[in-house]
Amino acid sequence: MARLNLIADVHGNLPALEAVLDELPKAKTLHLGDVVGYNPYPKEVIELLQERRIASVMGNHDNAVLTGDVSWFNPVAARAILWTREHLSEEELAYLASLPLEIKNEVCAVHGSPRRRLEEYVFPDYPDEVLSGFLKLAGRRILAMGHTHVPFWRRVGDALVVNPGSVGQPRDGDARASFASIDLSTLEVEIVRVEYDISRVAREILRAGLPAVLAQRLFEGY
Ligand code: ZN
Repeated sequence: MARLNLIADVHGNLPALEAVLDELPKAKTLHLGDVVGYNPYPKEVIELLQERRIASVMGNHDNAVLTGDVSWFNPVAARAILWTREHLSEEELAYLASLPLEIKNEVCAVHGSPRRRLEEYVFPDYPDEVLSGFLKLAGRRILAMGHTHVPFWRRVGDALVVNPGSVGQPRDGDARASFASIDLSTLEVEIVRVEYDISRVAREILRAGLPAVLAQRLFEGY
């Protein structure tokens, strides 16, 4: 039974990523962008994704860490992006620079949407007609997107649109890390939530001098 696992928006949260990797079914896994930003373990997350050979697309935070242009971000997000930029080595920045805007194999994977791959937020209330248009652009029967940090999946005709939610900073009111696993023959989707040591991340956020609100929001799942 062929499966595919989707993870997204790890955002430098190593304990959440480790907890999710422990629970993933045995199958190929793709990451839908935002490897870094917000949380204090960007180096460790880059190393672990590379070690596990988990391919990733580029997210808007990954891109901003590379360019240093934070004009589109709120002050808290901007501070974390600039902190991350200061703490990565040349090799780690080169890894971020190597991330493609899109991966197309059995799925089409992007961070935002197929028409605005870095920026567009596709929330669960998007109408079917818009999602159909995205599937046409994607040219695959599965379209996988991240960026909103809100998990959802929807069948549109015989195709599937799916967002696995966020590993490193869930925003749907559930503080547990989120991932999706797809049965590629039936297109059935399982959204799985995983507990991890939020207190450990919160302490490290404060120790690193990142904004305290980034620690608080992890406990609230927002
Ligand atoms: Zn994100």
